[in-house]
Amino acid sequence: MARYGMVVNLDRCVGCYNCQIACKDEHVGNDFPPVAKSQPTFGHFWMGIEEVERVVSPSHIRVTYIPVLCQQCADAPCISAAKNGAVYRRSDGIVIIDPVKAVGQKQLAASCPYGVIFWNEDSNLPQKCTFCAHLLDDGWKEPRCVQTCPAGCLSFGDLEDASSAAAKLLEETQAETWHPEFKAKPNVYYAGLPKPMLSGRVLFADKNEWAENVNVTLTDQAGAKRECRTDAFGDFVFDRLEAKTYTLSLEAPGYAHQSREVAVKADISNLGDIKLRN
Ligand code: SF4
Ligand code: SF4
Ligand code: SF4
Repeated sequence: MARYGMVVNLDRCVGCYNCQIACKDEHVGNDFPPVAKSQPTFGHFWMGIEEVERVVSPSHIRVTYIPVLCQQCADAPCISAAKNGAVYRRSDGIVIIDPVKAVGQKQLAASCPYGVIFWNEDSNLPQKCTFCAHLLDDGWKEPRCVQTCPAGCLSFGDLEDASSAAAKLLEETQAETWHPEFKAKPNVYYAGLPKPMLSGRVLFADKNEWAENVNVTLTDQAGAKRECRTDAFGDFVFDRLEAKTYTLSLEAPGYAHQSREVAVKADISNLGDIKLRN
């Protein structure tokens, strides 16, 4: 039996919100018994976009858009929180809130650690993404949001089938689950989640100007090296690091070599201005 899942390649997501609009277009004003009642026009985001902004330097802000939908968890807290079996997992892995049995079960909205269950005041019902189960049951190969994404950011398929697009992407990118600390065993995976980052800005002290094209090397304690060059503003950035200690070296012709230990923290570690001297 299939285990439907999604792999989200964040490196491709441009934050256009087409996926959210497609979800609205599919579900607002449309009931799909037995898997869903109509989604309200406002207040519900079965597909939401979380924007993570990180200030790398005064001239450089990095934004990661994270499409957030029901993670179709294998150990779903919403199932445990439901009365009368109102939330259940289908044999293909899709978690469904039964739109009849779940009437009045407001506690379900608070049960999801990912915050993707929305309370519908008008129909007295908790609601969420269904992975467009009604379409899959009708022979569609992918949900509306996946079909609509212009950037090819979303891959959908049977994660148990190694030949499916989603399973291949999962293998290629080594995508990971979001918030593993929730221990819910999601079936949505993300490639390119924000990781620790190290940045700084280099100046030529004698000229008091930004140092372009300086060779910057970051070496971890096992000897693995990464290199980059400063841009026109003297900025350098190393992304997708681990929170640990590295050795940073700076080299530019005509200037003294600099080397120092740096402790990279969980989010962004910015070293500020670094002056190269003759
Ligand atoms: S993400 Fe939330 S709503 Fe979806 S299955 Fe997991 S616990 Fe339930
Ligand atoms: S899978 Fe369907 S219900 Fe879920 S976010 Fe995408 S369009 Fe909306
Ligand atoms: S449609 Fe695709 S690119 Fe646009 S926000 Fe959604 S996932 Fe990102």
